[in-house]
Amino acid sequence: MRHPAGVLSDQYPGLIKMQYARLKYRSFWRMPETAYTTEGGDLPEAADIVVCGSGFTGLSAALSLCEAGRDVCLIEAEEFGHGASTRNAGMVGDRLKGGFGELSRRFGEKGARAMLEEARASVDFVEELTRRHGIDCDFRRMGRFYPAFRPAHFEAQARALEEMKKHFAIDAEMVPPSRMSDYLVSPLYHGGWVHHDTGGLHPGRFHQGLFSAARKAGMKAYARTRLIGWRRGGDGISVRTSRGDIRCRELVMATNGYGVRHLPGFARRVIPIKSFVIATAAMAPERLQALMPGGRMMADSRAMLRYFRISPDGTRLILGGRTRAFEDDLSTSAMVLRRAMVEIFPDLADVPVEYVWGGYVAYAMDSMPHIGRLNGVWHAMAYTGSGVAMAPWLGHKLALKILGREEDGRTAFDRLAMRPVPFYHGDPWYLPAVAAWYRLRDILV
Ligand SMILES: Cc1cc2nc3c(=O)[nH]c(=O)nc-3n(C[C@H](O)[C@H](O)[C@H](O)COP(=O)(O)OP(=O)(O)OC[C@H]3O[C@@H](n4cnc5c(N)ncnc54)[C@H](O)[C@@H]3O)c2cc1C
Repeated sequence: MRHPAGVLSDQYPGLIKMQYARLKYRSFWRMPETAYTTEGGDLPEAADIVVCGSGFTGLSAALSLCEAGRDVCLIEAEEFGHGASTRNAGMVGDRLKGGFGELSRRFGEKGARAMLEEARASVDFVEELTRRHGIDCDFRRMGRFYPAFRPAHFEAQARALEEMKKHFAIDAEMVPPSRMSDYLVSPLYHGGWVHHDTGGLHPGRFHQGLFSAARKAGMKAYARTRLIGWRRGGDGISVRTSRGDIRCRELVMATNGYGVRHLPGFARRVIPIKSFVIATAAMAPERLQALMPGGRMMADSRAMLRYFRISPDGTRLILGGRTRAFEDDLSTSAMVLRRAMVEIFPDLADVPVEYVWGGYVAYAMDSMPHIGRLNGVWHAMAYTGSGVAMAPWLGHKLALKILGREEDGRTAFDRLAMRPVPFYHGDPWYLPAVAAWYRLRDILV
């Protein structure tokens, strides 16, 4: 790993030391491994259901299945919570790509409304989960502000919100540039819109709380146990893992953007794209409150979007976005995101970055979440960077489907087929071109 100090220290020695001196290359949210207690020992020979993946989808499915009395064995290729669920920004939202306008053109007004209603229900579901299981993860509905990067973006936002409001009750409003400082103090933006009843949480603590709730309900969980393949036969499935085989009746694939390149069927349907995040060193909470009064979640209108928030304890700025497609160099990402932070908040130019990390966001060809069965196994995935609420929700819905509770398990997303992406076989060779086009669009439009 190249440290930013090594990259730029010749040019700006003092500055670099100040900005990155204590950089940690891991998620700020991550809980210690000791917070995840398991019974250990060998894998069981059989279980009713094997769940592959220990993120929000897998844990939520496992929790609901265990609560219904099923014998569930969850396997995780790395350590528990290795994937996006402990690497995200903790924004709990109900956005679906395209808003009402695009959704209704694609799925009809009724379909669009059903999907948006369900997205909203997913936020309520997360809140209910935290309450029911006493998960202390700072869930709060502080709202989200969407700053406009260009005046034309503000106009487009206003049109989209007006269209949405004609068809769907939403507690949201436009914020003109003259009132923007009630939400965000930045020279970079031109007003925006605010959505009041969405929120945020501490994803590490939410993840750990969900894990504990599922364990309490009876889930058996095995870290460092990679699914290698599966074979249908007799009245069930034989699951091959790096630690031996397990017989089960149903297999749930809850891998989202992780490891999909090696999963038959999924490799051509899910594209993992890396997103990066930085967290600054702690500072006086008043500094951040002055820049983001009300402490809302923020996601700007650029094609290469930047999202940012204040940490739950009020002391750090957390900011994320794509840096370069294929870029796996955390040091470069820290520099790119730090530059973005100072463009948004010139007043934070003296604040060092303390953490940098990255994670995979998963996209399907239609940029919609997917749930269902493929090659005889269940899946819920492809949340397009908005899975903090949708992943637990669809994990739960998947459990209801497996339990045979057809009506309760029905979702507005059932109708969507997860289609193979043309010319794609698990190696997203065209991403650099897409990223370059997005960057150009941000310059031009
Ligand atoms: C940087 C970043 C920021 C984000 N910010 C937000 C946000 O603010 N709000 C929001 O709503 N969403 C956000 N997201 C998206 C959100 O985090 C995800 O949609 C969600 O966490 C997906 O959960 P999951 O359980 O489906 O998958 P994951 O949490 O990714 O878990 C998948 C797990 O499967 C395991 N696995 C893979 N293959 C195998 C195998 N063969 N055998 C066993 N285990 C396997 C992986 O190791 C991994 O732990 C963000 C994502 C990223 C990367």
